[in-house]
Amino acid sequence: MEQQIDDLRKAAEGVQRFYEELIKLSDPRRNQLPISFFRALSALTLRDAQQGVKPHDVRFTPVELAQKAIELGYVKKKPKQAESDWVRTNWSKLEEVIESRKDHLQEVCRSSGYSLYPWIGKEESIGGQGNYSYYFIVPTLFSQEETNKLAQYPTQLDGIHYVQESLVNIPRWACWVNGFTLKSWRKYAYILPGIISILAILGYVLLILLLGLYTEISTVKWLTCLLVSAIVFWMVVSSPLYSVSSNRIVMAPDWMTPWKETSVQLELTKVGLNPETGDAIRELRLMVYSAKCPICQNRIEIQSGGFQFPFRLVGRCNESPREHVFSFDHVTRTGKRLVQ
Ligand SMILES: [Zn+2]
Repeated sequence: MEQQIDDLRKAAEGVQRFYEELIKLSDPRRNQLPISFFRALSALTLRDAQQGVKPHDVRFTPVELAQKAIELGYVKKKPKQAESDWVRTNWSKLEEVIESRKDHLQEVCRSSGYSLYPWIGKEESIGGQGNYSYYFIVPTLFSQEETNKLAQYPTQLDGIHYVQESLVNIPRWACWVNGFTLKSWRKYAYILPGIISILAILGYVLLILLLGLYTEISTVKWLTCLLVSAIVFWMVVSSPLYSVSSNRIVMAPDWMTPWKETSVQLELTKVGLNPETGDAIRELRLMVYSAKCPICQNRIEIQSGGFQFPFRLVGRCNESPREHVFSFDHVTRTGKRLVQ
């Protein structure tokens, strides 16, 4: 029992270490509600998890959680809805957030010398008036698989290690992109608009060519039409939604990214294998990768390589974007300094 309480405290401390790390990295999403709820849960756990208390009793109602989140976070008042609804909505966002930030969370706990990391749990109420759901921290031991994964791609000396971050406020019209799986009919739904527009453009080009041959269209007009269709063709082919299928990761276009976000990546992740054909099943994901700059300890974000590093994505430090430049490999999540 004592051991369990100890583990619980350690896990709760892990949340705080994680938040401190986010502050150091000046993570732009560190003060969003899901993370505030995570911190609230940790603060309440540290308050209640004392020797002699049963671990099972260290769990909290939505009212307690909401109050603490307001006290710690940047929201001054909860919205007009009931606490239980407010907490429930943000809780499911928190589940997404820590799932995608799991690597980073584990890394912080590991470097603090813990053998476990904090996860979250919820016990649903059976229903009825006055019955709350309970929320709590679950201390989770590192699995062998997770330890192996980390050892598979070690960060090189003077290299950097990227972590994933999730986005919680994706614009409504781009929500379908995040988690769009490419299998069965969806695969065709994905490539069909591109194929149709390419065919339409080719037909149009043919028409212009014929016009040039058989009618008296002026050369300037003719060239302009040809040029415009070439540009449209290039735009379709190089649009991020299609170029991601060959490059696996690209910068997300502006219309997919939440307001204020400057560095969002669109990734085509492998999520499994088709048991019949053996082909990879892939899913579109909106992600943010970041790292800590080993030179000045600031935040590194992914940007397109520009003229200096054409066709590549590179990590640039916020404080010295032209000098502290690193390569970016989304498979190994490592990078090394680029000098040119
Ligand atoms: Zn730097």
